[in-house]
Amino acid sequence: MKILRLILGDQLNSKHSWFKQTNDYVLYCMFEMRQETDYVKHHIQKLIGFFAAMRQFHDHLKSDGHHITYFKINDKENTQSLTENLSQLIEKHNIEHFEYMLPDEYRLDKQLKTYCDNLEISTKAYSAEHFYTKREDLKSFFEGKKQYLMENFYRDMRKKHNILMVGDQPEGGKWNYDKSNRNKWKGEVEIPNYKLFKNDISEVLQDIEKAKIETIGKFETKTFSYPITRVQALEQLKYFCEHLLVHFGDYQDAMHTNEEYLFHSRLSFAMNLKLVSPKDIVKTVMNYYRKHGDHIEISQVEGFVRQIIGWREYMRGMYWAFMPDYKSLNKLNNQNKIPEFFWTGNTKMNCLKHAITNSLDNGYAHHIQRLMITGNYALLTQTNPDAVDKWYLGIYVDAVEWVQLTNTRGMSQFADGGKIATKPYVSSGSYIYKMSNYCSSCHYSQSKKTEENACPFNSLYWNFLDEKREYLGNNFRMGMMYSLLDKMDKSQLQNIKKRAQHIIAHQDEY
Ligand code: FAD
Ligand code: SF4
Repeated sequence: MKILRLILGDQLNSKHSWFKQTNDYVLYCMFEMRQETDYVKHHIQKLIGFFAAMRQFHDHLKSDGHHITYFKINDKENTQSLTENLSQLIEKHNIEHFEYMLPDEYRLDKQLKTYCDNLEISTKAYSAEHFYTKREDLKSFFEGKKQYLMENFYRDMRKKHNILMVGDQPEGGKWNYDKSNRNKWKGEVEIPNYKLFKNDISEVLQDIEKAKIETIGKFETKTFSYPITRVQALEQLKYFCEHLLVHFGDYQDAMHTNEEYLFHSRLSFAMNLKLVSPKDIVKTVMNYYRKHGDHIEISQVEGFVRQIIGWREYMRGMYWAFMPDYKSLNKLNNQNKIPEFFWTGNTKMNCLKHAITNSLDNGYAHHIQRLMITGNYALLTQTNPDAVDKWYLGIYVDAVEWVQLTNTRGMSQFADGGKIATKPYVSSGSYIYKMSNYCSSCHYSQSKKTEENACPFNSLYWNFLDEKREYLGNNFRMGMMYSLLDKMDKSQLQNIKKRAQHIIAHQDEY
């Protein structure tokens, strides 16, 4: 029986059981398509990275002896539609059975299910063999519970997979070292050189330019610096263990004007394309820790493991538990536009300038830049979450919907009304001052509230609390802030609100 097997651009898992043996009756297929390049405006580096990694994966399978058809973006036979390409190959090669790996994105899942329902040949969907959990596991775990607390899920994952456990107790006596992960980086420990690959992607770039795909962001280095093969992903992981893990936890939340990556791993792109699995990563980090526990503290390792087996699996589970409704939630009824400077970095607010410039230059910003700078600002200015999602889905090299949407609409914009975060991640300038050196070279003064040079975050913060009282006033975690707001002098609040409203109406002037 002749079988066609589809591999999507984020399913580059060379360890998948499909590839254990070669078969003359199996034809694999991969497509670069306008369907995928045009549903949102992507960062140029994201497109380059996806196509380059896909092409490498094709070469790898071919050299292993697999039969594979690959449509490049400008190939004549490429219809630019997933289902039309599939139909074309099914007819051309007299295919009798079609197989695919379950996509991680709802949109593609639906498209493939509908396609298979209407096919005359038999079909089968396989797991992509990447995550620790299955799509539906998180929903079952929280069945009957009022809240979907990540911490409960995370502890269960630690126990289930026996990671950092001694019997049924957490190693070191604590589940969570979050409190020791909040240091500002002041140069006291050196940040090693970043591991930046110099992947020559000139051919991919030429093809993207020829196809006239609209993109955002910059690509000045002309070499792609994230891993595009499994070998590179493992090199990046090794580098992380040897040079960055030692301070990962300490400076996880820190931000600095001269440092784009600090001690972060830069592994999300490789992981999200499945070049490397979360299990590979956790196993390697744990092995390294076991060998070098004399100079690496448990807080560094736990901080990292939590991101992978906790947050990453949790976000995927939440996505499948609540899609498709999740994509249109706007519980705080935010309707404002996103400012132009999100596309240029052209703002006098130094924190935003750096977070956005990093995003435009590198398709990257680390978690706290995404959450507490751009995300915080978008929420305080009451931006419509559709626009916020679009920006986040386009701009980061690692942005795929299952992880982008839950992080953006849920964790960052509180548009799900508190399913993911128990309170909105908003702050005035004081948090940014505490965690970064941005404020010391900013046009605005972090300690001022209403003056012309006052930090915009300060007035936006209190204005947000005041305007969203209807939704947040009963949130017990917000009680202290609302009681401070209630004690605020009325005329001062009026001035704060006046300034905030001016900022919101004239965002590109600030
Ligand atoms: P590190 O700091 O080194 O962390 C290690 C790994 O942990 C990451 O590679 C990632 O796989 C995982 N991780 C850490 N935090 C999270 C999280 N909150 N959710 C899921 N996984 C996490 N991550 C994406 O992969 N794609 C996205 O599109 C994306 N969009 C985001 C949007 C917003 C508004 C926010 C607040 C966060 C978003 N994140 C996203 C999560 C996180 O910011 C990135 O995973 C991280 O910055 C990637 O850089 P790194 O590999 O150096 O991470
Ligand atoms: Fe950002 Fe305000 Fe600090 Fe300027 S003063 S960097 S706007 S927090």
